[in-house]
Amino acid sequence: MFDNLQDKLEGAFKVLKGQGSITEINVAETMKEIRKALLDADVNYKTAKAFTDEVKQKALGQHVLTAVSPGQLLTKIMNDELTALMGGNVDELNVKANPTVILIAGLNGAGKTTFSGKLALHLKSHKHKKPLLVAGDVYRPAAIDQLEVLAGQVGADVYTNRESTDPVKIALEGIAHGKQNGNNVIIIDTAGRLTLDDALMNEIAEVKQATQPQEVLFVVDAMTGQDAVNTAKAFNDRLDFTGVVLTKLDGDTRGGAALSIKSVVNKPIKFVGTGEKMDALDVFHPDRMASRILG
Ligand code: GDP
Repeated sequence: MFDNLQDKLEGAFKVLKGQGSITEINVAETMKEIRKALLDADVNYKTAKAFTDEVKQKALGQHVLTAVSPGQLLTKIMNDELTALMGGNVDELNVKANPTVILIAGLNGAGKTTFSGKLALHLKSHKHKKPLLVAGDVYRPAAIDQLEVLAGQVGADVYTNRESTDPVKIALEGIAHGKQNGNNVIIIDTAGRLTLDDALMNEIAEVKQATQPQEVLFVVDAMTGQDAVNTAKAFNDRLDFTGVVLTKLDGDTRGGAALSIKSVVNKPIKFVGTGEKMDALDVFHPDRMASRILG
């Protein structure tokens, strides 16, 4: 994960590590290298610029106050700033309501159905919940089959209606079924498209309006970098989602989506997917991710 970014940042740090003190010149040179590393990682240009400006200011402001070496000081500042860039604190999923309704949205292939199964397992194992998975991807019978298989694997209940192609109807039926069945979290998987279009947005907005979910999670493939950020922005403008799920982080060597999404969309990353298996899901911790990026 993020191997390219790690290597490039390490290279950028070398400029300062050998120096006895921080000066305008060596900081400027280091920031240039860090900005290059971030842009190579597919971080949004504005984000990269604002980030390096902030780090530079802090480095120049703090060096007189501390006895640590320039390398150590830069590491500390970078760690703090990367953590802040990715949202600062952990943003916990809101599952207090009974039942809690969670709507899952995103493009086809992003990993919605896989994440729905993973989330059910996470809520069972870590929050002692009794989740219901609702198969709302009405256009692909294979997606309904897939959700049934995953529900079986993680031991969660599932609601399907193969007779209907109305996502709002299925979502409402699913909620009613869950209430009767004693499910305290209802996870509604929705249909995606290959690309963004109005029909998709309208459909998910209708399901949202009808079901009044506590959480709307936008699922996106981290490996798509800036595209992931742009798609997130378009979904958020229309849907006002509550959080992001970054999937396929296990295959993401660059890290651009993870670093830019919060600052561009102003919504927290809540989970990251790190593999195809049902337990390959982590709650997103900005500070741990920052330490990992810095190696
Ligand atoms: P959907 O169309 O959005 O429902 O996407 P799927 O859940 O069907 O996932 C598409 C593909 O991505 C499947 O082959 C999944 O196994 C794979 N996938 C999903 N999440 C992850 C992840 O975190 N890591 C990896 N490596 N693969 C994933």
